Amino acid sequence: MKKLFKKVAYLEGLVDGADLEDRKVKRILDEIVDVLEDVVEALQELQDNQEDLEDYVASVDEDLEDLEEEVYGDDDDENEANDYDDDVSYVEVECPDCHDTVYFDSDILDDEDPIEVTCPNCDAVVFVNDDGLGPADHLTEEEKDDHNNEDI
Ligand SMILES: [Zn+2]
Repeated sequence: MKKLFKKVAYLEGLVDGADLEDRKVKRILDEIVDVLEDVVEALQELQDNQEDLEDYVASVDEDLEDLEEEVYGDDDDENEANDYDDDVSYVEVECPDCHDTVYFDSDILDDEDPIEVTCPNCDAVVFVNDDGLGPADHLTEEEKDDHNNEDI
């Protein structure tokens, strides 16, 4: 933009310095130089506004990022939470009644207290932590029970 200002100023000097005999031509050239000056000034203003707008958009973008972090949670925190979740392993059991897949914390397997895991879908017991019986053993037992019930 400075280059343009210099060029217009140079042109203005040329017109002023030229020993033009025709006054009308000199006047036209002066007018052209004036218009050029206005155009370059307008361009400069446009560029300044553009830069202001870019700064503004950047600050809005920053604010939006902060807001997103607040609303959706910080990405880093989320990753940490996922890392914690990865440390916890889940046991997958099929519900004997509705055949829905039920997940529960594998810590329950190590728990000394008897814990019943029920299906969130139909409330059927899918696993009972009673002295080392795995989910498979337990399911087999329940299946036997079901058969007994049918016989009665
Ligand atoms: Zn179920």
